[in-house]
Amino acid sequence: MKATIDKEKCVACGACVDACPQGAITVDEEIATVDDRCNLCGLCVDACPEEAIGLPEVRGPKTEGIDAYRGVWVAGEVDGGGVHPVTHELLGAGRRLADKLGVELAVVLMGQGLAAGARDLIGCGADRVYVVEHPGLVPFTDEVHAKVLVELIQAKRPEILLAGATATGRSYIPRVAAALRTGLTADCTGLDIGEDRLLYQTRPAFGGNVMATIICPNRRPQMATVRPRVMRKPGFDSGRQGVVEPFTPGPAALASRVKVISSVKDAQDTTPLTEADVVVTGGRGLQKAENFKLVRELALLVNGAVGASRSVVDEGWMPYSHQVGQTGKTVSPKLYMACGVSGAIQHVVGMQGAEIIVAVNKDPHAPIFDVADYGVVADLFEFLPALTKKIREERGEG
Ligand code: FAD
Repeated sequence: MKATIDKEKCVACGACVDACPQGAITVDEEIATVDDRCNLCGLCVDACPEEAIGLPEVRGPKTEGIDAYRGVWVAGEVDGGGVHPVTHELLGAGRRLADKLGVELAVVLMGQGLAAGARDLIGCGADRVYVVEHPGLVPFTDEVHAKVLVELIQAKRPEILLAGATATGRSYIPRVAAALRTGLTADCTGLDIGEDRLLYQTRPAFGGNVMATIICPNRRPQMATVRPRVMRKPGFDSGRQGVVEPFTPGPAALASRVKVISSVKDAQDTTPLTEADVVVTGGRGLQKAENFKLVRELALLVNGAVGASRSVVDEGWMPYSHQVGQTGKTVSPKLYMACGVSGAIQHVVGMQGAEIIVAVNKDPHAPIFDVADYGVVADLFEFLPALTKKIREERGEG
């Protein structure tokens, strides 16, 4: 597809040739011509004084009955320990959106033994909790969860669906979007309702260098995922009233081609990254896997979690589950300590929400100092053991 030229209007002035960054337009004495290098950026349309250039309709058809879609939904997440905290955080964000639109906020829970969790979610801001209980939903498989959620969405027609950008959300929510042929904006950091009642979904793009705001005007629901700890948890109101509504999916939705033989939890001796108030992260400055013991020792001492830069994960010194950053986890602890981490933008986007950032680096010009509240220019092999020793002494642990 490429831009189109209206023969009647084109005066071959060449303004479009100058405007086209692809070099896709040529002009002879009579008319401009567009070739296959056109990427539909639209700069020629703005540049043409005769309004002779148009763009083809690249959008698909609108969702049928689009105006009947109403309400904000949260795809709740259930793990072994109950309802995942990201569900509560999304209810906080969802409540704000629903109030702006003047619509109901609902949350969907799928699994078994969900009654107590469902009532709690009303206290967190939900007006309605759709509960889908079936043995086929445990353990989680993306195939069945996606099919059940699609069936529920088709039956009830929400205009917005929010989900956690967790391992679970990332595996089944794109299937839901694809099945409904709607848009999905992953890893949003901001959500708002515009004057046109659309969901404005903001997320970092181009390595965190720009913030892109994305809309989905033609398809429903408008879907967005948000990483844990990006949105604030709402307060709990035990007096809030709401409805718990069971939903029974059809047998086709529950049929699965996948059989889960066993699940193995990542063994961690420290607090999980996204739940910790303190994160101590090691970078390539640690030089080898064994040296991570310095970071782990400090993290254990302060009841914190161990983070890692991508370089460290790529080297195989730490598992991926510890990676902080654009392609890892987003953390927003009270205290983040970056030890031997240079501060590349892809790392910083995952930790800049921390309340206090401390950086330890022997290079005084390391970019991590630009985001740090406290910078320690030091060799981490001297600083970390000294800090650990000092904390022990202060606590009388010798
Ligand atoms: P380096 O950049 O090598 O920095 C090591 C630092 O340690 C240096 O500043 C050095 O001065 C310091 N140092 C060395 N020795 C000592 C010492 N003895 N004492 C104190 N300081 C010392 N990175 C992430 O972290 N997370 C991501 O999610 C991520 N996603 C990415 C996605 C894309 C698409 C791309 C292209 C890159 C991504 N990266 C990510 C990689 C990122 O660009 C950096 O390469 C990476 O963060 C660098 O890791 P580092 O800081 O540990 O290593």
